[in-house]
Amino acid sequence: MVLREYGSPLALEERPVPEPGPGEAVIRVRACGLCGTDLKIAAGKLPGTRVPVTMGHEPAGEVVAVGSGVRNVTVGDHVLAHFYVTCGLCEYCRTDRESICRNLLGRVGFEIDGGYADYLRLPATSFLRLAPGIGFEEGAILGDAVGTAFHALYRRGHLRPGETVLVMGVGGVGLHVVQVARALGARTVAVDLSPAKLELACAHGADHALRYGGHYVEQVRDALGGEGPHLIVETVGRPETVEANLRVLRPGGRLVIVGYLPGSTFRVDPLAALLDEVSVVGSRACTKDDLGSVMSLVSRGAVKPVITRRFPLEQVNEAFSELAADRILGRAVVVP
Ligand SMILES: [Zn+2]
Ligand SMILES: [Zn+2]
Repeated sequence: MVLREYGSPLALEERPVPEPGPGEAVIRVRACGLCGTDLKIAAGKLPGTRVPVTMGHEPAGEVVAVGSGVRNVTVGDHVLAHFYVTCGLCEYCRTDRESICRNLLGRVGFEIDGGYADYLRLPATSFLRLAPGIGFEEGAILGDAVGTAFHALYRRGHLRPGETVLVMGVGGVGLHVVQVARALGARTVAVDLSPAKLELACAHGADHALRYGGHYVEQVRDALGGEGPHLIVETVGRPETVEANLRVLRPGGRLVIVGYLPGSTFRVDPLAALLDEVSVVGSRACTKDDLGSVMSLVSRGAVKPVITRRFPLEQVNEAFSELAADRILGRAVVVP
């Protein structure tokens, strides 16, 4: 399904099955997760993207062909794709921070043809074998929804066992932030506007659920017995939620930004930030190393990828409408 022009529906195009070149692999896509970012890409609101592009950045499938020199996967392997195609050579790639690679070749489903397709060709090193017991649908959403949650908490938020984590927004990523935080030994507070999302967060282990609204700061502190959380993962990224969360954080706390409104800014009181030594950090997608940890958590049953809806490939536009209307809990997947 191809985005030909920003703001227009995706179009079904017939393409030949791709052949792998040297160092490349081709998979038969078995599932591809649907992400809120898709709506921003399709609307032309993300800098750096291009059209035409086959969208879909959470693909998983079975390897059907490999090019010369490929050693990490073989035909028949079940794999997911890490959606940042990186240089592998720069300072960041060499230090396990490849989501900020300085020579990024592109992102799958953003600038490079992605997973809303029957077949997908990428450099073989973009594919990671799924751990035994992880199916295609679950495996697909590890690449972003679960991997991004892990990266935000562990890599960028430096979460320690016993800490309290507030998750602002428990949609596709936030619901998995709740689960990963719990698996890493944290107490969790889920915050959202949607009662259904809060209910689902509780079913997946959130210790407290709060509907975002008036007296927010007091409500959070009451729920936690007086002190604010150690760590906040902000998946909404509206100026008002970020600013409210900066007030709710306990001294020494960290606020990790995962969600954003393109073009918006928020205010930080420098004196308050200094006096309380708060940290505001960005967190971009995840690394391949993170995905190894995530697969281990999922294999052991400590984290359960939540998929509530399935759409055939031809219905990606309908799936986008459901997502835009906020009618999808957890993640939806496209099943070609
Ligand atoms: Zn995404
Ligand atoms: Zn690099």
